[in-house]
Amino acid sequence: MTALTYRSPKTDVRPSPIHGAGLFAKQPIARDDIVAVKGGHVLTAAQWANLEPALGPAEIQISESLVIAPVDQTERDASMLYTNHSCDPNLAIQGQIVLVAMRDIAPGEELTIDWATTDDGDYEMECRCGSPRCRRTVTGKDWTKRELQERYRGWFCWFLQRKIDGTRPA
Ligand SMILES: [Zn+2]
Repeated sequence: MTALTYRSPKTDVRPSPIHGAGLFAKQPIARDDIVAVKGGHVLTAAQWANLEPALGPAEIQISESLVIAPVDQTERDASMLYTNHSCDPNLAIQGQIVLVAMRDIAPGEELTIDWATTDDGDYEMECRCGSPRCRRTVTGKDWTKRELQERYRGWFCWFLQRKIDGTRPA
């Protein structure tokens, strides 16, 4: 099936020391380069809650109550970003679906995103990203932490930035 998600030809998917399969730079990637664009269906959070037990994490949150996600296993493979979480990432979302490089990235580096910049949820996960900045426990509410709001100023996805700016209730 046609890929639902775009991944830059400068990347490839390989086994990751962080988790499962990861996305890696196979050529130099410059700051602000578009690395990937998430595709899928626009679903309500309730629709996704019914699918997630079977499909696992494969969605991207685009508002408080909407996600972009696959609806079956075939689509899951076609919509994966393969970007693992890191507490010291090199990618961030600009807007809602476009992942860009936060800095220049060398060939061989794993391409990661801090879920604090993309997620507003109720989960808690033990982190093994291996970075000196590792928070050990990552939660779906990390975006509310002041120090992360400072560090990632300008790098939050649109709906979280709107909440941080206070134009929507947290
Ligand atoms: Zn970590």
